[in-house]
Amino acid sequence: MNQAAVKIPKVEAIPPTGAHVPLIERYLERLPFEPGDPLVSLQEGSTPLLRAPVLSELVGATVRLKLEGANPTGSFKDRGMTCAVSAAVRDGAKAVICASTGNTAASAAAYAARAGITCAVIVPEGKIAQGKMAQTLVHGARVISLKGNFDQALTLVRELTDTHPIVLVNSVNEYRIEGQKTAAFEIHEGLDGGLEALCIPVGNAGNITSYWRGFREMGAAPKLFGFQAEGAAPLVEGRVIEHPETVASAIRIGNPVRWEDAMAAARDSRGAIRVVSDAEILAAYRLLASKEGMFCEPASAASVAGLLKYGADGAEQIVCVLTGRGLKDPETAIANNDGKVIQCVAERGPIEEAVLGDP
Ligand SMILES: *Cc1c(COP(=O)(O)O)cnc(C)c1O
Repeated sequence: MNQAAVKIPKVEAIPPTGAHVPLIERYLERLPFEPGDPLVSLQEGSTPLLRAPVLSELVGATVRLKLEGANPTGSFKDRGMTCAVSAAVRDGAKAVICASTGNTAASAAAYAARAGITCAVIVPEGKIAQGKMAQTLVHGARVISLKGNFDQALTLVRELTDTHPIVLVNSVNEYRIEGQKTAAFEIHEGLDGGLEALCIPVGNAGNITSYWRGFREMGAAPKLFGFQAEGAAPLVEGRVIEHPETVASAIRIGNPVRWEDAMAAARDSRGAIRVVSDAEILAAYRLLASKEGMFCEPASAASVAGLLKYGADGAEQIVCVLTGRGLKDPETAIANNDGKVIQCVAERGPIEEAVLGDP
């Protein structure tokens, strides 16, 4: 049913001006696409770069937030997915597959639906945030819940794609890295090359790899500070973590695909990859929501937790990447906030007390 012919638009050399432009068209000359190639886009990219006054005050520098949750499916994965799925369609693929902690699945499912091709996702059993599962299912992907962790899921899909004509859209896929590097272009352009340090969560380490590639292509070299969660910090500990654990499910990864690339990005940019605890992640998560008005998912808050914990080596222009949207993970939000719901009868006096009385 999913296979009904879908008319897929083509990449245009000169996209319409003024409008929000698909990422592949905006950066066509820097991406592995040509005019006339199939374009599977949901108008991803061109995300806001928001000043963070409270954080800036706390850190003593100008801090901005790159709001990757503003992408169509709510995470930066869309930047890579528009490229991976457009290329898959160009190359005649009828199906894509990924192992996912959630956001890759949601994004692959959406872009596959748009392209009219089949999508299968393998997720670690019981470890997917609810919003991401909802997206993946509603877009019509085939969801396989694996009795195992993410790293086992990835090993299995790699074996499958070696023996079947299905395109793997995890961040081992080069098109993912190419697409995601465009976020670095946007920051570089937005700050006129003035960025000094970037703080970013690290899971499979595809994104930090992409940013470093993007900055280098712009001739820029900000320091990259990557942050892993304490229970899932293979790059910091220098060993594979068999049973990664953290509240930040999007970075619950014990054996990153882009291990060497991430270490090189940190080293060559004179940055570092460091560790933050779940308590620090959740404190940053609440601070962002309650003081900056920005609701991101827990993994995203690792970037801010790391900045608050370690500083940014004297940098004055800092960007923290907020990789995904808070609504992805309602369970964690409900369980971690300082608010409360006040029960009240439908009468004037009690309402007045509830609204205006001491909390
Ligand atoms: C995928 C993801 C990450 C980790 O990115 P990697 O490329 O795997 O390092 C961080 N935050 C969110 C919200 C994600 O979806």
